[in-house]
Parts: sequence; C-alpha cells; structure tokens
Amino acid sequence: MTTDTSDSWYRGRFAPSPTGPLHIGSLYTAVASFIDAKAHNGQWLLRIDDLDPLRCKSEHASQILKTLEQYALYWDEDVFYQQTRYPAYQYALDDLRDQSFVYPCRCSRKELEKRHINKGVYDAYCFKHPPSSKQASAVRIKLLSDSISFNDQVQGRITQSLKSDVGDFIIYRKDKVASYHLAVALDDAEQRITHIVRGHDLLDSTARQIYLQQQLHLSQPNYAHIPVLSDINGDKLSKRTGAEDVALLGVNHTLIKVLGYLNFQPPAELVTYTGSEILDWAINHWSMANIKPRATLTIPNH
Ligand code: GLU
Repeated sequence: MTTDTSDSWYRGRFAPSPTGPLHIGSLYTAVASFIDAKAHNGQWLLRIDDLDPLRCKSEHASQILKTLEQYALYWDEDVFYQQTRYPAYQYALDDLRDQSFVYPCRCSRKELEKRHINKGVYDAYCFKHPPSSKQASAVRIKLLSDSISFNDQVQGRITQSLKSDVGDFIIYRKDKVASYHLAVALDDAEQRITHIVRGHDLLDSTARQIYLQQQLHLSQPNYAHIPVLSDINGDKLSKRTGAEDVALLGVNHTLIKVLGYLNFQPPAELVTYTGSEILDWAINHWSMANIKPRATLTIPNH
C-alpha cells in the first residue's frame, strides 16, 4: 500500500477583477497565492471576477491572462468567469428568500446619508417598513448571529461583530447583480477552494463571506491576508494611483522585486534565471511565517 503524501487537498486561487491591466500590487498577490499553492503541491486556479458588467471589460481579462503567462504563473483547470454564474447567484438568492433570511431594501445612498448611516451599520429601516414589491429593490441578508471569528494565517485570530460593524448587508443590487460577497462565497465553494491568499484590504469582507458560507451550508476556506502594497501616502497601489502595467516591465527584475516585498532574500544570480526558474526558487524557499501581520507595505518608488 502506498501512502499519498501530496497536499492535493490544497486548492488556491487568484481572482482579479478585469478593470484594467495587471499592476504590481495584483502581481504581488498572484505570486504569493501561486507560491503558497505550489509549495503545498496544490492547485492554483484562476477566476476572473467580472461580476460587474459596467466596470469589467473582456479586453482586460484577456490581457491579464497573457500577463500571467508572461510571468510563468500558469493556472490549473479552465479559467472560471463570474459572468457565467448569474443563474447560480439567483438560485442562492431564491434559497435564502425561501428561508426568509433576506428582505428587499429601497434605501438610496442619499437616504442613508441623511440618517447618518452611510458607512455605518444599516438600521434595518426596510425590514421595519417593507417597500412595495413592485418597486425595484436591493436585497439585504438578516444577521441571525453576531460575531464571526476565524484564524488568519498572517493576521492571527480575527473577530468581527457584524451586528455592530456592518448590520444587515446587501447581497443583491437593485440592478439585479449579485454582491461581491455573495458571488465570492458561492464561487469559492464551486471551485472547491481550500486556501485563499489575498490582500489585507479584503480582511474586512471576510466575516461577511463566512456568514454567507454558514447560511448557505458551504465549507469555509483557510484565509491568509497579506499586507497591501501602498505608496508613501498610504494609498493602495492601483490603476488609480498610477501603478504601471507589469506587462511592460522586465519579467526577471519585476519578479525579483516582488519576492523582496514577500520578504525573500533572493540571491544575485536569480536575475539570470527564467521566470519559471525564479518562481521555482521561491517555491522551495517559501514560508508564510515570513509575512508580517500588518495592513500595508509601503513601496516608495514603484
Ligand atoms: N476580485 C477581487 C479584487 O480584485 C478579489 C476577490 C478575492 O480575492 O476575494 O479585488
């Protein structure tokens, strides 16, 4: 009898939103999730988070795929597109509605602002004053439990009180697009993702996603939220803050720079390696324990 020692139970993913070309901040997340998956002999899946038809473009999606290949970040299985998942999101919504876990909400941003709850906790106004069913409405999920706790592999034990931090939250928009939280909870389950490595900016979303996993009886992946790369003003590197398209940069130098951000100390000869060889070196020297539990990592000159 042979013993299976591979970690084939590990299924990681990278889930970019195709709102622009891949920049250094997203390449860094892609590299971290790829290396962690491969260091566990796991699979690394690619999901294109093209949920929002107004913000996402298929040209950007194909450009991102090409750039990942350019950097030798080869994914396993077929690319998964959220655009193909609208029926599954609707099915989950119907399921939650059948269990009376949700209610329609007509509150506009202006009304929320007027009631001083713009970024605060929703006051369940539409639960207490149900809008007429003829009006187009967003859908909110009721909070049946309060605190959600989980162990983040980088940030440690995290506890969030959804009742005092968020309130009943939107899972379906008025224009009938599923919310990011609902789509991610369902898609991670559909792709049988076991490990999520992503930026610290999404740490705050995790409790909501776990709450949805619980209500929909989905399994909960392991989480690791790595510091987000930011400029000297503390703003996350993004298209908006002028981060460059990494497709235009040299693969070796850029990968080595990214390894530095992940606290590797790459030897000088790595510049002579191919992209694939650089990643192999990183896989052999990887430890998530080297990542510091912090929100941001400031990159002075990106
Ligand atoms: N699509 C999201 C983004 O680009 C990431 C989703 C996730 O990792 O959960 O910010």
